[in-house]
Amino acid sequence: MTSSAGGRILRLVASPVGVLASTAYRARRQAHVQEVRRKLGAKWHAAKAHPVSATGAGLLGSAPTRSVCIKYVPHGRGWLCHSPDREGMVRGTGITMDNKGFAALQEKVRGQVITSDHPLYDASRTVYNGMIDKRPAAILRVSQVADVIAGVNFARDAGVSLALRGGGHSAPGFGTCDGGLVLDFADRRGVRVDPAAVTARAEAGTTWADFNHATNAFGLATTGGIIGSTGVAGLTLGGGIGYLARKYGLSCDNLKSADVVTAEGKFLTASATENDDLFWALRGGTGNFGVVTSLEFNLHPVDVVYGGVVIYLLEHAEAVAQLFRDYIATAPEDMGIFLGFHQGPPVPFLPEEFHGKPVVVVVGG
Ligand SMILES: Cc1cc2nc3c(=O)[nH]c(=O)nc-3n(C[C@H](O)[C@H](O)[C@H](O)COP(=O)(O)OP(=O)(O)OC[C@H]3O[C@@H](n4cnc5c(N)ncnc54)[C@H](O)[C@@H]3O)c2cc1C
Repeated sequence: MTSSAGGRILRLVASPVGVLASTAYRARRQAHVQEVRRKLGAKWHAAKAHPVSATGAGLLGSAPTRSVCIKYVPHGRGWLCHSPDREGMVRGTGITMDNKGFAALQEKVRGQVITSDHPLYDASRTVYNGMIDKRPAAILRVSQVADVIAGVNFARDAGVSLALRGGGHSAPGFGTCDGGLVLDFADRRGVRVDPAAVTARAEAGTTWADFNHATNAFGLATTGGIIGSTGVAGLTLGGGIGYLARKYGLSCDNLKSADVVTAEGKFLTASATENDDLFWALRGGTGNFGVVTSLEFNLHPVDVVYGGVVIYLLEHAEAVAQLFRDYIATAPEDMGIFLGFHQGPPVPFLPEEFHGKPVVVVVGG
């Protein structure tokens, strides 16, 4: 059984490109991240600066030497603790601060510092994944780059963990933390399109829905996420795969430059010509190589997009996946489609009996 929605729907032929592409993508991304860490570990990470707990905890930027990021420690086949908000990080630093301690930070910033006694605390600590229930000591709603510098300096000097939140979509909750300070970019969602240069600069709290809305007015786009509410920052820094990736590459391939505040509280720009090693790390090396305050992208002419979704019952999964695989091998690069396994969404075009039941979804355009 199939079902479809939308006005002008592309007739989608199913094949498992989503599955295959994401497997290949993950392998490439993992290799890239390992290479980044091997080459840049000494230069950009505070690798020897902190006491290491059993879980490999460290802390952003309290190193006396040049340091942009928390440390990475070997763990099993990979590395542990790429993000300051892991549980181990909090246990490792063991440093928290009471609400009064953050009054000093509020004096230094224009954005609001929200601690647990604030009426907006619970709403502010909520992230996309409802299973994540972390309680930061404070959330700073960043209003400008000066706030980022102040926040980084404050966290470093006080020794509290720091987490960075763009769109808040990290499934494991890397955009928040227990007991530390969250820099929340939700108020920084401006996008400036330069149609002559065919580029756009997005602030670090921009979602892909914000970005697409801004660039679409100029008949331009770049590779973004499949879902509009995902953050531009977190997605791009981790690689970024989306509908336009087959034609224009990953989101990080389209990153032209990024403004960054380092763990020392220093502002710099990373691009192919400035701090090029950091730029290389930012393009898929995952987050936390410093705090990215804005990202500049190359754009492409993308005007009318035809898209749609086709839903199959799980019993047809094998046939759908095989067809999908065979089709996508030679499909034109304009076609960006994904196959995934989902629970039947409660949408009007899907009969109610399939709501909440496992289904195969082919989506794209
Ligand atoms: C529903 C859903 C759909 C998704 N779809 C896609 C998709 O189509 N394609 C794809 O490639 N991925 C997708 N993802 C994965 C997504 O790209 C990652 O979870 C990404 O980290 C989310 O970015 P964010 O800014 O929303 O996350 P956040 O939770 O805000 O941040 C996650 C991490 O990103 C880093 N980060 C965020 N902001 C900054 C900053 N300003 N400076 C430095 N580092 C920062 C930090 O490490 C942070 O801990 C999806 C995830 C979900 C939940």
